[in-house]
Amino acid sequence: MSETTYPNDGLRQLLEGYRHFFKGNPPRKGFCALHAEQIAHTQNPHSMVISCFDSRVCPEAIFATNDGHICVHRNMLNQVDPNDASMMASLRFAVESLRVQNIVVLGHSNCNAVAKLKDLALLPQEISAWLGGCGATYRGDSYEEAVKNNVLDQLQRLSCLDFIARAVRKAQLHLEGMLFHIHSGRLERYDAVQNKWIFIETEE
Ligand SMILES: [Zn+2]
Repeated sequence: MSETTYPNDGLRQLLEGYRHFFKGNPPRKGFCALHAEQIAHTQNPHSMVISCFDSRVCPEAIFATNDGHICVHRNMLNQVDPNDASMMASLRFAVESLRVQNIVVLGHSNCNAVAKLKDLALLPQEISAWLGGCGATYRGDSYEEAVKNNVLDQLQRLSCLDFIARAVRKAQLHLEGMLFHIHSGRLERYDAVQNKWIFIETEE
């Protein structure tokens, strides 16, 4: 994606941050006393990221963001579950109060939760209740395809929520699906226009 085709400045910041992360030179400063005064009284995040809770996938690091730039909601399998009150409250606040420009569903390779979808009956009750209850399915001919399809399923769920659809229609909100490859650090995004996954250029 060239600079001229970014749907908004928030997505430009995310992908520029990612390129810093990939090169091992993230400009992320994190929270510190000097920065605290600037963000103590307000927040103006440009994006919300929905991520798996996997310890190897840290959205703030992957996008090299500073505090106040993104909101992150994490759960096992990066699900958008309309019955999850915590998720729905976070989404509504992010879209209508914080007015984020993007919601990114961030899936990842080596996601154990996706693999476990095939064997729900063998899992402890707490885990099978979540994975089964949120309606997630293993969909695809390969493991990678199943991970990607899970991301697309969540984008579809997002687009069906009335307050999300309204914001998208008004061009106030952009929905984005991405896949982080743990073993390589590469990032793919789903191009809805071309209906295919494309690796983010790391040198732009
Ligand atoms: Zn995962």
